[in-house]
Amino acid sequence: MPIEFTYERPDVNARKIINGEDQDVVQLEPMKHTFAWDYYNTGNANHWLPTEIGMQKDVEQWKSPTALTEDERHAFETVLGFFTTADSIAANNIVMAFYNHITSPECRLYLLRQAYEEAIHTHAYQYMVESLGLDSGRIFNMYREHEQIYDKASFIVTFNEGIFDKDFQTGDFESDQKFLENLCVAALVLEGIFFYSAFAVILALQQQNKMVGSAEQIQYIMRDESNHLNFGIDMINTIKEEQPELWTEDFQQRIINIIHEAVDIESNFAANAFPKGFMGMNAAGFRQYVEYIADRRLSRIGLPVQFNVNNPFPWMSEAIDLSKEKNFFETRVTEYQVGGTLDW
Ligand code: FE
Repeated sequence: MPIEFTYERPDVNARKIINGEDQDVVQLEPMKHTFAWDYYNTGNANHWLPTEIGMQKDVEQWKSPTALTEDERHAFETVLGFFTTADSIAANNIVMAFYNHITSPECRLYLLRQAYEEAIHTHAYQYMVESLGLDSGRIFNMYREHEQIYDKASFIVTFNEGIFDKDFQTGDFESDQKFLENLCVAALVLEGIFFYSAFAVILALQQQNKMVGSAEQIQYIMRDESNHLNFGIDMINTIKEEQPELWTEDFQQRIINIIHEAVDIESNFAANAFPKGFMGMNAAGFRQYVEYIADRRLSRIGLPVQFNVNNPFPWMSEAIDLSKEKNFFETRVTEYQVGGTLDW
């Protein structure tokens, strides 16, 4: 788009998440959606790299014939099979679909940081696979070979196809609703539901002092993911304020139906991937946990809860809170926050 020579400044109040009349997406300041700037700064302060976490203990346990049961190995590999491609799918959504249509420069700025974090997560899984000497071809192809992982990946990919289309544009009622629906799927379903049974498996292992290096990485990933989820929710709620006409009764019901479908897919994944249950968590427990977090996602965007169940894995909340507090810089040599140690 050519730049126009003008003395006129864009009106920051006209700035919107999508369809901003002020379409100048390269002027970061003055900002309107300051929440995005806060997430950007939080992301930078949380910066971490997988290779700084030792995998020695995990490698020893993986090689030992007695440290892990067959079920534990199977569960670990299965959740890796989901993880290894899920963050690449998330990155594709951000870079190739959402970024294009978002007209808030500050939201675009955070999306760049988020995209980089998705890359770091994919790197973390690659690092686990490589350190443990797993068959990378098998693990990375599991989203095509393993039926329940395929169901999750294909739900997201198929759903978002529409806004990947090069002819897709926001600006009319139907397209704007479609965009908002896609945002709900990416933030609430992919970032907010589909990772959570797999997180539970890794944190259950961690509680038994198993695969602790991998688990530590998962905790950093969960900390990043909770920011991605919260940012997505803030964007959804801001679009609701900026374009309230989109939030019809029909549309709300569409989102509720999607959440029900996602809960079924995720519960089905846990039930079939771990048919004997896992470390005290059985299929009913997984379903209840997925229902519990789904209700929390719904209420954050002002929709009625659907399941009304208690958290059957209260230790998961503790682990998530712990990972939020975890101060990477207290335990690491590399201090990104300080930086500037280069000698010229
Ligand atoms: Fe993410």
